Amino acid sequence: MQVTVKEACSSGFVRLNVGDTLVTVKVSSPDGTNSQVYTIMITREQIPLAVTFCEMKDQMEFECPVSLSALYRPVSINQSDPKAIFSAPYIDMLTRRSKVHPFTDRPLGDSWKVPEGQLDKRMSSTSVKCFFAHRGCKSVLKLAEIGAHAKDCPNRPPVNLDTKEVTETNWYKKHFTSSRNLEIETKHSLQVRNWEKRLQTAVGRGQYRRLVQSC
Ligand SMILES: [Zn+2]
Repeated sequence: MQVTVKEACSSGFVRLNVGDTLVTVKVSSPDGTNSQVYTIMITREQIPLAVTFCEMKDQMEFECPVSLSALYRPVSINQSDPKAIFSAPYIDMLTRRSKVHPFTDRPLGDSWKVPEGQLDKRMSSTSVKCFFAHRGCKSVLKLAEIGAHAKDCPNRPPVNLDTKEVTETNWYKKHFTSSRNLEIETKHSLQVRNWEKRLQTAVGRGQYRRLVQSC
């Protein structure tokens, strides 16, 4: 039998995108008369850390307008103008109960969700800074490779935090060593303003004039 993966020989490896990667596997019989194509969708888990692209324009382009973080498994809404692209988990959550465009309230028809595979691929090979750049890591990597780097990054914070680093500080001792210190005294005084009361009871657009006059 002959096996080809993504139209290439099976001995090669497949570069995975950050989100979804569709891999086609074609299996042919020894004489080549029969063949069958299998498709495999490989989804990588989302890394729960904020991604920082090296270029500001990339940061803007690859930002999900709902999560305000880097797109993950990007999808667009069919025939949306301007084209709206979201991270799949967030748009799925927003459209779970009401099938409308989250920004325009336009009803979403069948097959409204368009996977943006090419965008995912382009994003995956875009340069990003290491998650631990703030701790001194100077590495610049492709987004698809940052997970592997972060695992072994020398600037990665220790997994097991030493509690003594906190409990031995003067700040901690002053505020938390005795439970007496935790009783924070607060003095509240409540003042009801008439205009606030009226604002709460005012209903409808026409009422604002009366509200303004009475102030
Ligand atoms: Zn690093």
